[in-house]
Amino acid sequence: MNLSTTAAVIGAGFGGLALAIRLQSAGIQTTLFEKRDKPGGRAYVYQDEGFTFDAGPTVITDPDCLKQLWALSGRDMADYVTLLPVAPFYQLCWEDGYRFHYADDQEALDRQIAAKSPQDVEGYRRFLAYSNDLYREGYEKLGTVPFLNVGSMLKVAPQLLRLESYRSVYSKVSEFIQDEQLRQAFSFHSLLVGGNPFDTSSIYALIHALERKGGVWFARGGTGALIAAMARLFEDLGGTIHLNAEIDRIAAYGDRVTALTLKDGRAFAFDQIASNADVVHTYRDMLRGTKRGEAQGRKLGAKRHSMSLFVIYFGLKTQHPELKHHMVLFGQRYRELIDEIFKGSELADDFSLYLHAPSVTDDSLAPPGQSAYYVLSPVPHLGTANIDWYAEGPRYRDRILQYLNDRYIPGLLDDLVTVRHFTPFDFRDELNAHLGSAFSIEPILTQSAWFRPHNRDDKITNLYIVGAGTHPGAGIPGVVGSAKATAGLMIADARR
Ligand SMILES: Cc1cc2nc3c(=O)[nH]c(=O)nc-3n(C[C@H](O)[C@H](O)[C@H](O)COP(=O)(O)OP(=O)(O)OC[C@H]3O[C@@H](n4cnc5c(N)ncnc54)[C@H](O)[C@@H]3O)c2cc1C
Repeated sequence: MNLSTTAAVIGAGFGGLALAIRLQSAGIQTTLFEKRDKPGGRAYVYQDEGFTFDAGPTVITDPDCLKQLWALSGRDMADYVTLLPVAPFYQLCWEDGYRFHYADDQEALDRQIAAKSPQDVEGYRRFLAYSNDLYREGYEKLGTVPFLNVGSMLKVAPQLLRLESYRSVYSKVSEFIQDEQLRQAFSFHSLLVGGNPFDTSSIYALIHALERKGGVWFARGGTGALIAAMARLFEDLGGTIHLNAEIDRIAAYGDRVTALTLKDGRAFAFDQIASNADVVHTYRDMLRGTKRGEAQGRKLGAKRHSMSLFVIYFGLKTQHPELKHHMVLFGQRYRELIDEIFKGSELADDFSLYLHAPSVTDDSLAPPGQSAYYVLSPVPHLGTANIDWYAEGPRYRDRILQYLNDRYIPGLLDDLVTVRHFTPFDFRDELNAHLGSAFSIEPILTQSAWFRPHNRDDKITNLYIVGAGTHPGAGIPGVVGSAKATAGLMIADARR
């Protein structure tokens, strides 16, 4: 079917690519404009001295939401990219030496929970049932449908109340689980989508069920290989990608957008325009000078934004098969540290880290005998703490590498071949992210579903949003789900 409609998607993150694939598969002639020299957005790839570093997402959940993108045109994802299962899902480590193998194996989980806190075996089962319920209500039913009016929110309110989504993730987990380290093990997940477990809606406890049901996967060759596969699928379908193509302005007349102007002066006209770029940047900068752009830019700019991240990518001349693919390294403090990350005005002295060690699953990411890593530390965004990251970045990098060297990867400092880091300033400057936030608007209840920027603008009838800033929110399944919601609207509007 050819709808003779033309569409532009601004930004080639997971959300932008998934939307472009859906539109092109439906016969809408789609053009993707990406500011950087490669697609991927937060899932960019660095190649340094023979090492391949995925910049961002590494934990791939709900592979079906990705497979659907190929199935739309009768293709098979396996012809483009291979997903490898990751086991255990994560290894969780504390400074007192306690380790929890977070695996997709009920018996192994029960055994570990029983050894740590016998009363929590039953509590964990009840937590899993609760998480499954959240998954059905929050993810399966609502994760890919747009919330355009208050009525759509009222319709789901009874379910949200029943599930006590007004409580925080940590508070719900604590209802089921008594041991503090196990509480941390089952509540840290909301951080993966930018949510403070002590503040974010308990609905995000569905991530546990999402992992248990769909598994945790890694793309052979890295997440970058999955991005490359999505870009190739889009082009195979007849879509066009412009790289190094930063959009300067979206032209709007009355309640319609009509064209895009690039920073280099080129202009293109389209029937529909969708933005995968940061939502504040979309309204405040690209729609500057319009009433809608200025009003929304101000309103969204004042919302609560997720924390930022400090990420170090490093390659070692040795291998460490004793490490696990995904490791969470809890520091001494949990609640207090998270509080400082979301609300503090300074960089804390301690940290909790996520360590990505993909070479244990895939040896193609480093030269023979060597290994690739990244380590990330959640840090305040630029509106919370006024940190000069040009000065602090190298110091913070060295502190974290020393900590890893002393506790988890002996010899790291001697074996370093290459190292680079990415700070909140880079989120702001490279990705145009408001306040350098890593996950866009914070996923608290009053900023979720209808309360989040809508998948189609309320006033401009052919302007759409896709990605972390709209419903349902950040994370690969979230932004790929947002693409389904947004594509549904664009395709229906094109048929009108
Ligand atoms: C370090 C890190 C680790 C993460 N780990 C995981 C994980 O393991 N699993 C998971 O599911 N999620 C993870 N996430 C979250 C996930 O990566 C993001 O929520 C998701 O990738 C965001 O996708 P998006 O579609 O919103 O677009 P983005 O990735 O934000 O892409 C937006 C794109 O728009 C482009 N752009 C901006 N302005 C313009 C302009 N004016 N013109 C043209 N282009 C423009 C940008 O260059 C960018 O490419 C992680 C995030 C980070 C930062």
